[in-house]
Amino acid sequence: MKIIMLGAPGAGKGTQAKMIAEKYQIPHISTGDIFRANIKNGTQLGMEAKKYMDQGLLVPDELTVKILLDRVAQEDCKNGYVLDGFPRTIPQAEVLDKALAGLGEAIDYAINVDVPDENIVRRMSGRRACLSCGATYHVEHIPPRQEGICDHCGQALVLRDDDKPETVQNRLKVYHEQTQPLIDFYTAKGVLRTVDGTADMKDVFEEIVSILK
Ligand code: ADP
Ligand code: AMP
Repeated sequence: MKIIMLGAPGAGKGTQAKMIAEKYQIPHISTGDIFRANIKNGTQLGMEAKKYMDQGLLVPDELTVKILLDRVAQEDCKNGYVLDGFPRTIPQAEVLDKALAGLGEAIDYAINVDVPDENIVRRMSGRRACLSCGATYHVEHIPPRQEGICDHCGQALVLRDDDKPETVQNRLKVYHEQTQPLIDFYTAKGVLRTVDGTADMKDVFEEIVSILK
């Protein structure tokens, strides 16, 4: 099963993608996590990506597409995957589509997690991320057991640089201009499903599971 998560930054794509990955035993692939791991390790790619990420801009397609195609070609992806944060532009979606078509495959579901802009800034300023294992929390809605510490790996949680309110506004603008058109793209392919992302995370997940059945 090949699934794409669509939605504004902070809509809950990552939260749901992790639950889908666990239930269906497929890899969760987040281009944002891949970039953050590269930044943490000080790679050339990380340094290049950071320039864009810190401003709330998209990393150029040339850099992003290659990383994603290499990742989905790996052995653990042969039974499918859940993509979180990719594609984010029409050219990215077209490249993915073409690569899959070459293998006689296609995306099965594009799940659009719908959350209005008004809720997004609040979500993002409360998000706390573990840069070690990629786990995500929310100070009010989904708190870790011990404040500031990751439940999974015990590392310190951080407010991502790009989750500061001024950057979030930029990311929302970029989302509406460059990523939202993907809703029409996947509707035309007959695979788009929209879920109400403002509901409790367990209810959002239940709705997604009922779609994937
Ligand atoms: P995305 O991957 O779309 O950027 P995340 O999954 O990281 O978004 O979620 C953004 C923030 O909102 C996180 O702090 C997360 O814990 C929180 N969150 C996710 N889903 C919900 C929900 N259904 N209700 C309330 N908060 C949520
Ligand atoms: P995310 O963790 O998905 O919120 O992504 C964080 C940031 O990484 C984004 O704001 C972009 O700067 C960059 N990024 C992640 N995925 C992509 C992508 N598919 N295309 C371009 N930039 C990306």
